[in-house]
Amino acid sequence: MTAVHHPGTPVIEGDHLISTSPATDDEAGRVPVATGVDIERAVAHARAAGLWWAGLGFDGRRERLLRWRRLLAQRMETLAELVHAEGGKPVADALVEVVSAVEHVDWAANNARRVLGARRVRSRLILAEFSAHLEYQPYGVVGVIGPWNYPVFTPVGSAAYALAAGNAVVLKPSEYTPVAGQWLVDSFAEVVPEQPVFTTVHGLGDVGAALCRSGVDKVAFTGSTATAKKVMAACAESLTPVLLEAGGKDAMIVDVDADLDAAAEAAVWGAMTNAGQTCIGIERVYAVEPVFDAFLDKVVARAGRLSVGPDGADVGPITMPSQLDVIRRHIDDALSRGGRAALGGRDAVRPPYAHPTVLVNVPEDSVAVREETFGPTLTVNRVRDADEALARANALPYGLGGSVFGRRRAVAIARRLRSGMASINSALTFAGMSTLPFGGVGESGFGRIHGEDGLREFGRAKAVTRRRGRTLLPSTTFDRTPADVARLVKAVKMLYGR
Ligand code: NDP
Repeated sequence: MTAVHHPGTPVIEGDHLISTSPATDDEAGRVPVATGVDIERAVAHARAAGLWWAGLGFDGRRERLLRWRRLLAQRMETLAELVHAEGGKPVADALVEVVSAVEHVDWAANNARRVLGARRVRSRLILAEFSAHLEYQPYGVVGVIGPWNYPVFTPVGSAAYALAAGNAVVLKPSEYTPVAGQWLVDSFAEVVPEQPVFTTVHGLGDVGAALCRSGVDKVAFTGSTATAKKVMAACAESLTPVLLEAGGKDAMIVDVDADLDAAAEAAVWGAMTNAGQTCIGIERVYAVEPVFDAFLDKVVARAGRLSVGPDGADVGPITMPSQLDVIRRHIDDALSRGGRAALGGRDAVRPPYAHPTVLVNVPEDSVAVREETFGPTLTVNRVRDADEALARANALPYGLGGSVFGRRRAVAIARRLRSGMASINSALTFAGMSTLPFGGVGESGFGRIHGEDGLREFGRAKAVTRRRGRTLLPSTTFDRTPADVARLVKAVKMLYGR
């Protein structure tokens, strides 16, 4: 019996993976599937290349990474067209994605030395005869495993920082977007032709699992929470450190003094850009009673104007055909439990598209509120006040990003959101801010990409002390006398005991 083929589902033909468009099923390109031996070889070559790359130092790497940035910026239209052809993402969304990736390459390249480079740190009085030195040395080879929803932004968010820190990178792109991953690696090889510093291994989930066990020195994973747990389990076998960027169910809180037009605009954008297939997408809104009705009207009016279709529309196809069943199930569950569709509803899922859907007053225990939908849907629930909004927003095991609209209490509310990131009076903006760390809490994972924390994620802290004079209060030697120890005790009591 042959399985039914859904447009966009990757096909394995011989030893190649064929990537197709979810809108048209046209081939977007093909890549070789890696065998176990290929993965071992890729990691071994990357290890040697990584030594060469690390040896270039921060300045040598910066210069090459900026060359790559230049090339990405020059060819952004080509890359965006490819992302569109392979994943169905509207070209405008793909361009915005590439812009953000270019920004991250620039920042990582320009800041790696300052954040990771060797520097003196202060000595403390108790060890005043020693100087202290700190630097962050590369791990060696970093395995990057990426999802399909942002096939440029997510791998670059890890790879650019890992490369700037002096590591080689082996990327395993999602089977749904291997061609975009290959394009990134090929473009890097154009500016760094000397050694395979940044390479790919392609295939299904088993290739990702094999990469985790291949002896790489760190794994940076972006994908679903379920797979993140498998990655961590595989990495535990060899104590390989992991960085996990997993799923989310981000909430927006609309407070009583919010600009409702701006809030509605951001809610619709945050929920429906990339057809809602965004880890930090707004999937739930909690609006306080006095503004609820006016806010909802504005959301429905805006979402109702969005066009859905293959080319040039606001909302493109759902990239992974199986996700359509999840979206349908969430809408059905919300409605069968007493929620109301203010827009869209049960017939919103028309493969390969899901049409904008706004669900109102959905019970908090519905899967539409509790689980990641990954479609152009939004639940909008009424709450008494911002405290109730926070309690509901924070009630899920996920905690990736979030958004707050309001004035007087907005900062306090954003700080109390149980999440790694939040944007005030906008949605998703923290993702493009290369100076800020990106990552979640709880089931959304741990570790950070982007910003200074994102650079440090890809370097091992190396701490060195160096004697610069005679020890006045000898204690860490068998040559110490009882009088030395007594003097030390007296000194510490004077310093810290008062
Ligand atoms: P998956 O978890 O299904 O896949 C992610 C990657 O892991 C893919 O390359 C996949 O390969 C690979 N993989 C699958 N099984 C294994 C395994 N056992 N061991 C190692 N690797 C494996 O996620 P999706 O691709 O469906 O991406 C969507 C998810 O990603 C959403 O939950 C979204 O929230 C999350 N995400 C999180 C982000 C963040 O920064 N926190 C950003 C973007 C997305 P293959 O595709 O070949 O199966």
